[in-house]
Amino acid sequence: MTIQTSDRETAARLARRPWLTTPIRPELEVSFEFFPPGSSAANNQLDSCIAELAPLEPSFVSVTYGAGGTTQERTVTTIESLAASTDLEVAGHLTCVGSTAEEVDTVVDSYVAAGVRRIVALRGDAPPGEGDGTVDGGYHTAADLVTGLRRRPDGDQFDISVAAYPEIHPKAASATADLENLERKFEAGADRAITQFFFDTDVFVRWFETVRMAGISAPIVAGIMPVTNFTKLVGFAERCGTDIPSWMYDLFGGLDDSPEIRRMVAATVAAEQCRLLVEHGVRHFHFYTMNQPELSVAVCRMLGIKAAEAGAESLAG
Ligand SMILES: Cc1cc2nc3c(=O)[nH]c(=O)nc-3n(C[C@H](O)[C@H](O)[C@H](O)COP(=O)(O)OP(=O)(O)OC[C@H]3O[C@@H](n4cnc5c(N)ncnc54)[C@H](O)[C@@H]3O)c2cc1C
Repeated sequence: MTIQTSDRETAARLARRPWLTTPIRPELEVSFEFFPPGSSAANNQLDSCIAELAPLEPSFVSVTYGAGGTTQERTVTTIESLAASTDLEVAGHLTCVGSTAEEVDTVVDSYVAAGVRRIVALRGDAPPGEGDGTVDGGYHTAADLVTGLRRRPDGDQFDISVAAYPEIHPKAASATADLENLERKFEAGADRAITQFFFDTDVFVRWFETVRMAGISAPIVAGIMPVTNFTKLVGFAERCGTDIPSWMYDLFGGLDDSPEIRRMVAATVAAEQCRLLVEHGVRHFHFYTMNQPELSVAVCRMLGIKAAEAGAESLAG
């Protein structure tokens, strides 16, 4: 049988296409985000989360920081404990609203004292009714904060990530203003940007092209939110300016009381999203774990990232 050119092209195209059952590229990087636990039960949950995720050898793990006074002590304690008890690269989130530059510096000093020099530098949001949250003698934007961090005597030793918004920050004046703000953060010395979570991959891809066309060549890390609780996610996404496409309502609607099925759907959706993003040049995924490891582990496995199996070498040998 003679194979026509168009058949060959189709076969070649299909061969290139990463099927869901084929784990992809080991050179992908992943990182995991946690929130600081507020009870001893939540502490235990974080410990088991770390135990599941650490073997996947993330580039770093990060701990969120509640702007405006919430969780800040817990963030520092969690960071100290992770740095002391694991070999993981730990990143501390840091916000600047509601604080003076000196207060921010004190938090940075405590990160440094714990051996942590990775920082996710953020503006943060003021609590409702407190204006824009800026205070005299404080940093007004994340770009200002990055400048302040780099100006410290140890400023060149920090690895600084900043936030980016594929769907545009809800308070940004325009898409252009938001992009210019991202440029300012890199000009101030940020090393990479981690995006807000998103589900419309086409929107991300268009935004990513705009970022590159603007001359930003620094790593852009895609923030991935595997769906743990759809109802809560809808409210959270609205506050963050993240669109929930209608196909997600179709997929997750009616699964509130079917956690197993919901988890299977959630893992498939997030893995497929990552695969599409890999096709568009994304190489680093930051998982918003909500301190629940299973979905991140499952998605990583489908990406070809899994813990080295004990005894695998001797079996192979
Ligand atoms: C990866 C990631 C991690 C995060 N971690 C945390 C965390 O640990 N703790 C936490 O509290 N929050 C966290 N956030 C949320 C973040 O603090 C908010 O999105 C905040 O509104 C903007 O922070 P930023 O660093 O992007 O600010 P900036 O870069 O300074 O601003 C981002 C955009 O928002 C606009 N903007 C922001 N605030 C205003 C305002 N008041 N008025 C007008 N325009 C405004 C800016 O003009 C700009 O376009 C995180 C977000 C991301 C994406």
